[in-house]
Amino acid sequence: MSYDPDNIFAKIMRGEIPCHKIYEDAHNFAFLDIMPRAPGHTLVIPKTPAVNLLDIAPDDLCELMRAVHKLAPVVKQAMGADGLMIQQFNEAAAGQMVFHIHFHIVPRYAGTPLKAGGQVMEDDALLQAHAAKIREALAG
Ligand code: 5GP
Repeated sequence: MSYDPDNIFAKIMRGEIPCHKIYEDAHNFAFLDIMPRAPGHTLVIPKTPAVNLLDIAPDDLCELMRAVHKLAPVVKQAMGADGLMIQQFNEAAAGQMVFHIHFHIVPRYAGTPLKAGGQVMEDDALLQAHAAKIREALAG
């Protein structure tokens, strides 16, 4: 599959579609999932155009993992989670729905089952509050 520069995450990065932004550096961008599997569900994407793990350049993947590694503990702490799940899907057959590579950082709480992914739109005020919490933890 070739990269579509008009995919939804590319539009979010260009500011054409709003998001609850968490983080940005020279290589990466992170924001809250609009249909989260748990409170604080964060998506980390590279600025480089890549569909998934099968076409991203190794150096870009390393930079992306730096951001995942930086943000994961911050998300866990900010959301008061007991653990974290990191997910990344490649191709539709594996569950990929947006074709700009992304890692999911999903806070997990002991005894709380995951919600289904990508199905129920979260309340915008709640997303705003969660994003503010994570940004605050990142700044502190
Ligand atoms: P995947 O491609 O790994 O299956 O997941 C794509 C993720 O993107 C889903 O969890 C879905 O909820 C999320 N998503 C889809 N459209 C949007 C959007 O417009 N904004 C945000 N913030 N997340 C989205």
